[in-house]
Amino acid sequence: AIPLVVAINTSLAARNGMLVRDRIAMEEARNLDAIVFDKTGTLTEGEHGVVGVATVDGVDEDDALRLAAAVEGDSEHMIARAIREAAAERDLSVPDATGFEAIKGRGVRATVDVSGFPGGSSDSADGDSEVYVGGPNLLTQLDSEIPPHLRRFADEAGQNAQTVVYLVRGGERSESSDEASGEAASRGGELVAAFAMADVIREESYRVVDALHDLGIEVAMLTGDSQDVADAVADELGIDTVFAEVLPENKDEKVRELQDRGKLVGMVGDGVNDAPALTRADVGIAIGSGTDVAVQSADVILVKNNPMDVVRLVKLSEASYRKMQ
Ligand code: ADP
Ligand code: MG
Repeated sequence: AIPLVVAINTSLAARNGMLVRDRIAMEEARNLDAIVFDKTGTLTEGEHGVVGVATVDGVDEDDALRLAAAVEGDSEHMIARAIREAAAERDLSVPDATGFEAIKGRGVRATVDVSGFPGGSSDSADGDSEVYVGGPNLLTQLDSEIPPHLRRFADEAGQNAQTVVYLVRGGERSESSDEASGEAASRGGELVAAFAMADVIREESYRVVDALHDLGIEVAMLTGDSQDVADAVADELGIDTVFAEVLPENKDEKVRELQDRGKLVGMVGDGVNDAPALTRADVGIAIGSGTDVAVQSADVILVKNNPMDVVRLVKLSEASYRKMQ
């Protein structure tokens, strides 16, 4: 039988927009030592706008945006939406693209007709070229060098908590690539532009971090974004522990790292990428309109998409426990 107090508090939780999928985890929430938050879309609004473009010589900003928007044509990612919007705002015609491919935690790739683009020698006679858009993890995979003035642009953007993604042309397809591990399918692409994108910290995030600290809970952040963006957001919010540039397949290891230090760990996230970490955590918390995968991996679902509900969850767990003694 379900103990009466627990049953009552599960419905109390539901009335507060918390769907409890695992009651044991709900009870454990009062003992959490650390809570790990996904950055983008959880601590921040996740709505990136393009705030700056830098290009190599001979490429103008509009051409860079048109190409990038073409490659991002099929992606649901916030970054993709922002790039498409920026191209639309400038009334740019976006070239056709085919063969869209998401490269998990790194970026996207497509084949674009680049005939008519300046400096546009293509890989093939029909004007098609492989084009990529992605973050630092993508550049590592492609072995692409960042020209000094783009590096300076990226450093400055990073210090202002702006996410930077890069446009890379060409790159040799390698047939020996290991698709399963997302390993390099292409090498030696030429970096032609960088885009700085601004995200905004959610107002509630400040209060969440303070309230969790008051409860003696360590606050950590987990993101695939660059180290300097992560550090800037963490500094602003007073977050204790930062895991940045983490590939999707490694996110659960970071939760385990904290557990190995003897901590009981909660994880808050919304994305497909967060699912393994939500499963790994002692208390997995899916937030908002979380993806189905995130919801199915979580112990508790915060339907109101308010990060303050994480604090309410811990307090409700504490209150239930006191009553049961
Ligand atoms: P997060 O951990 O912040 O939720 P993701 O795992 O979704 O981020 O992505 C990690 C990084 O991969 C992004 O910061 C970006 O650099 C790159 N990336 C992912 N998807 C795209 C895309 N559609 N366009 C450009 N870059 C992308
Ligand atoms: Mg995310």
